[in-house]
Amino acid sequence: MHTFKPGGIHPPQSKITAGKPIIDVELPYSVVVTFSQHIGASAVCQVKKGDHVNRGDVVARASGFVSANVHTPISGTVVKIDSAKSAYGLPAETVTIEASEEDHQSDLSTIASAQPVRTIEEALALPPQEIVSIIDAAGIVGLGGAAFPTKVKLTPPAGSVAQVLIINGAECEPYLTNDDALMRSNAIEIVEGILILMKAAKVDRTIVGIEDNKPEAIAAMRAAVAATKVADNVEIMPLKTKYPQGGEKQLIEATIGKEVQAGKLPISVGAVVQNVATAFAVYQAVIMGEPLMSRVITVTGPSVQHPGNYRVALGTNMRAIVELAGGFPADTGKIVLGGPMMGRAVVSIDAPTVKGVSGILMLPESESHRGKVQPCIRCAKCVEACPMGLEPYLLSTLSRLNEIQRAKSLGVMNCIECGSCSYVCPSWRPILDYIRLGKRSIKLTSQ
Ligand code: SF4
Ligand code: SF4
Repeated sequence: MHTFKPGGIHPPQSKITAGKPIIDVELPYSVVVTFSQHIGASAVCQVKKGDHVNRGDVVARASGFVSANVHTPISGTVVKIDSAKSAYGLPAETVTIEASEEDHQSDLSTIASAQPVRTIEEALALPPQEIVSIIDAAGIVGLGGAAFPTKVKLTPPAGSVAQVLIINGAECEPYLTNDDALMRSNAIEIVEGILILMKAAKVDRTIVGIEDNKPEAIAAMRAAVAATKVADNVEIMPLKTKYPQGGEKQLIEATIGKEVQAGKLPISVGAVVQNVATAFAVYQAVIMGEPLMSRVITVTGPSVQHPGNYRVALGTNMRAIVELAGGFPADTGKIVLGGPMMGRAVVSIDAPTVKGVSGILMLPESESHRGKVQPCIRCAKCVEACPMGLEPYLLSTLSRLNEIQRAKSLGVMNCIECGSCSYVCPSWRPILDYIRLGKRSIKLTSQ
């Protein structure tokens, strides 16, 4: 069975919502759309208070090559443009849009009567650059969590040539099942999105890597590949379940056996990596003419009453989504956006959903705290676990002592912040926390 080396760990999978269907949440009457929902420059506001906007209109436009358009998922009136707080407590420029009953009913009937704007054959006849332009206009970003603008990955640097498209269906984070649910319910659309991405990236081969803890998703994707008669070009590859298989470098090694050298991009080995949910968004944009306005979010936790995979309009208040799942369990100790390994704890749930939110995880008090930090016992478990072949205990110590040049020379910038080292440490040492500090110091000194 294919996987990556070195390192990797096997945390409890806790996929409580595995096998659950996608619940389509009805459009809200009000959304708060955030201008910066991606890596790169914030989009720039295109509306003013009092404007009427239609569902799918651009409300903030990309302001550079690494940036992305932002659209409204509902029709309505712009009632506020201000700086709100993100879920992490950081300032975020937003626009608030409120729908009248007439707006709301009009949106519902538009959704109910949606028709393709072109067939897959017509889409595949488009020049690659035109496909990239549609993806760019639709504001599509990587939906695996990184939110990197997709058009950038489809525009390789001069002299680089893509040979293979790798689709990330690994979903290696515990608890999350939003990609699994999408592959089970929208496999044909994902495969058509993959074919369009292949045309845009000018490659004739794709490998879809899916961990073997998702047998239904593997079967659904294989059936979709057979139904679309593209089996010669698109391979569904089961992967041995191991964290962090969804890391770009780990996935490339697991699927095509090539190692991306430190400091290099996937394109250096001829690979372009996209997430399954991104492929679905590409289908929506190119075939259905819909910009990125919604996504599937796993709402979960050991005590959550109605855990599930919810498809929500971007800009929906996260508290409203939590309420749909039964509200906060009484024992909630921590709320994390994303999975427990790479997700980040929030300071407030009264914030809008954004493109990069794959999950809302409510952990009980008992799982929300680390043990008491003890001295390092030189057990080397962190070294064994590191998928980047680093020495986490040493990098952590050097970062803590602010010996950042030495940490840099030992490869601290190659750390993908997967948290495997902290997870396995028997002494509860905050290894990754110090490494993050070290990386930040290096970035600041090199500016
Ligand atoms: S967080 Fe960084 S140092 Fe720790 S295991 Fe992951 S890649 Fe290695
Ligand atoms: S796992 Fe923890 S105790 Fe073991 S070597 Fe690494 S830092 Fe030290």
